[in-house]
Amino acid sequence: MTTPTGTTASVARTLTLIDKDAARGSSCSPDLTRGPWAFDAGLPAYGPGASQDDAVPADAPVQGRIPEEYQRASDEELHARISAARQTLGERVVVLGHFYQRDEVVQHADVVGDSFQLARASHGRPEAEAIVFCGVHFMAETADLLSTPDQAVILPNLAAGCSMADMADLDSVEDAWEQLEAVYGTEPDDDGRVPLLPVTYMNSSAALKGFVGEHGGIVCTSSNASAVLEWAFERAQRVLFFPDQHLGRNTGRARGIPLEQMPTWNPRLPLGGNSEDALRDAKVLLWHGFCSVHRRFTVAQIEQARAEHPDVQVIVHPECPLPVVEAADSSGSTDFIVKAIQAAPAGSTFAIGTEINLVQRLAAQHPEHTIFCLDPVICPCSTMYRIHPGYLAWVLEELVAGRVVNRITVPASVADPARTALERMLAVAPKQSAAQSAGAGS
Ligand code: SF4
Repeated sequence: MTTPTGTTASVARTLTLIDKDAARGSSCSPDLTRGPWAFDAGLPAYGPGASQDDAVPADAPVQGRIPEEYQRASDEELHARISAARQTLGERVVVLGHFYQRDEVVQHADVVGDSFQLARASHGRPEAEAIVFCGVHFMAETADLLSTPDQAVILPNLAAGCSMADMADLDSVEDAWEQLEAVYGTEPDDDGRVPLLPVTYMNSSAALKGFVGEHGGIVCTSSNASAVLEWAFERAQRVLFFPDQHLGRNTGRARGIPLEQMPTWNPRLPLGGNSEDALRDAKVLLWHGFCSVHRRFTVAQIEQARAEHPDVQVIVHPECPLPVVEAADSSGSTDFIVKAIQAAPAGSTFAIGTEINLVQRLAAQHPEHTIFCLDPVICPCSTMYRIHPGYLAWVLEELVAGRVVNRITVPASVADPARTALERMLAVAPKQSAAQSAGAGS
């Protein structure tokens, strides 16, 4: 286990605080104190947390009721049952935990990391019969793409989607592509660069990764987005970047692309809401998607942190809006944030602009620093919240009984081109982006 229990912040305690503070308005939803199974009844829903007001697709997976015994069990009982099942299963199972998961789940993970690190980890454990992915749906799909055909990838709660990933669906992207081909044509320029190449953020469905693979494009993560854009511009005059407009804009801006050459593509409007002239002049077309967690961070919060802590270092995730990234001292992936804190001299003060579970954990693991979340309102990722130790205990005990539940399988017709797009990404060496240097506001 990578995270010793004694050094973790208890998200259960955080949720108790939410309950106490709800009346003062310091929690985005008092429903967070309810068990996630309260939201498993029938219709697709993100549940409480930062995405609660986002539109969930009608065909989003729904989690059925798990047995009552898992809902009623105490934290201690679930911890004991998960540990016992893990002991029985031994090397036959590997548990992966995303940084944004609650600590009661993370403490059982063999590997803890961001989506890129966990994708790599799922590639590197071919001996395990089952990969239990404590993250969200697109991550489990990616694990299925990178694992062997005999391995079962399991998502403990099927309702753990990602509202950002859901903002770009295959039909809308195909429609956009058709409209853009009508504007640009398909002929390469004199340097052999095609008019347009698709780039998808890791936070997207396997279907979109497949689309990208079929159209010569590539996947990126928040760690390697700059290197991936460089790869794309060696092959294309422009990029259609989806689903996160903010990562695309921040990365393009750090590479010196003017904002007017990065128009937003609104899939509900003809030509994405742009003129043909604007599209011809564009370098990066930004899909109108965003992360509801990272969109909550503001320049005003940074100003307040600086007023209250003159020596504070502000680090934000590149899914935050551009003005926030520009006002911060630095920006980078969750792994970048973790390493920056590990490398700092004792006594440092950090205001962090990313998901609350990670910030709470870092604060507990680094008592030598002062670490707090930029957003004073406790509001976790709604979909990460759907994974609770009760679901983890359920899927593991089902495995002990010889049953695989909640398996995530990507169909072969999608998997082949999606793998191609991922392999292109894995071949591009991650480079530290300009936005990850100190003074990233520039
Ligand atoms: S933090 Fe944002 S991008 Fe990550 S899973 Fe949650 S909604 Fe999706």
